[in-house]
Amino acid sequence: MTYNVFGGTLNPTLLLLKFFPLSVLWFALFVWLLAYKPYKSAYDKDSAPANKQYYCEVCEKQLNGPQPYNAHMKSKAHREELEAAGIYA
Ligand SMILES: [Zn+2]
Repeated sequence: MTYNVFGGTLNPTLLLLKFFPLSVLWFALFVWLLAYKPYKSAYDKDSAPANKQYYCEVCEKQLNGPQPYNAHMKSKAHREELEAAGIYA
């Protein structure tokens, strides 16, 4: 006596082959969901210090990139902040 639930034989190997593409799709989605979140948070952690390196701690001012940062370092406002803080660079 054979159980004909899926319109075919109940051979486990044939059932696996029949549903293999779908299970691979779900498995890939599962792995992607697991892998994507750590990747994104790691990326966010990496990008945060990248912005932080253009932060002037003397003036407590955040610069957007190397050029604004260098311009700020040479600026009169920054030098006045250095003098006020007692740092002569
Ligand atoms: Zn400064």
